[in-house]
Amino acid sequence: MDSSALELPLGRAELTNKTTDDDLRFDWINLFCREKYGAPELWRWFKWERKEIDKPHEFLLVEGGVCTAKIERGKRKGQDDWKKRDKAMDRTFVVARKDLDAFQAEWQARTGSCFKCYGTGQEWGGWSAANGNRYRPCTKCNATGNVPSQAEKATSS
Ligand SMILES: [Zn+2]
Repeated sequence: MDSSALELPLGRAELTNKTTDDDLRFDWINLFCREKYGAPELWRWFKWERKEIDKPHEFLLVEGGVCTAKIERGKRKGQDDWKKRDKAMDRTFVVARKDLDAFQAEWQARTGSCFKCYGTGQEWGGWSAANGNRYRPCTKCNATGNVPSQAEKATSS
């Protein structure tokens, strides 16, 4: 695995791996692969690609593994050292876009929380080197963190 494999494709905005402590986002791909495909608890994706974009059968081709090793020196010290992972734990999954959407809807129904902001009321608004992750009031749930009720949806549309 060369380092270019760690570059993330476009479309990662809402579905990225947590990199820092101020990153409140869920990783839906990891959650999906663990719950639906029985990926091990410590399994995380390291690369995914959107395929058949905007078609009904759009899917993500997800490659991941278990990495506990950290880089010991240099600029990237403390970050995951994927080169030293146990490759026997590598798994590749095909995740259909519609299955992922259904999973988020199912999660909302199960938890009563807004999937976009994971019930925090704050949605992710970008990242910069100077300020880290930025958040703004969630537009989906009006910053309540709750699933909008059918009645509210009807009046707002
Ligand atoms: Zn929300």
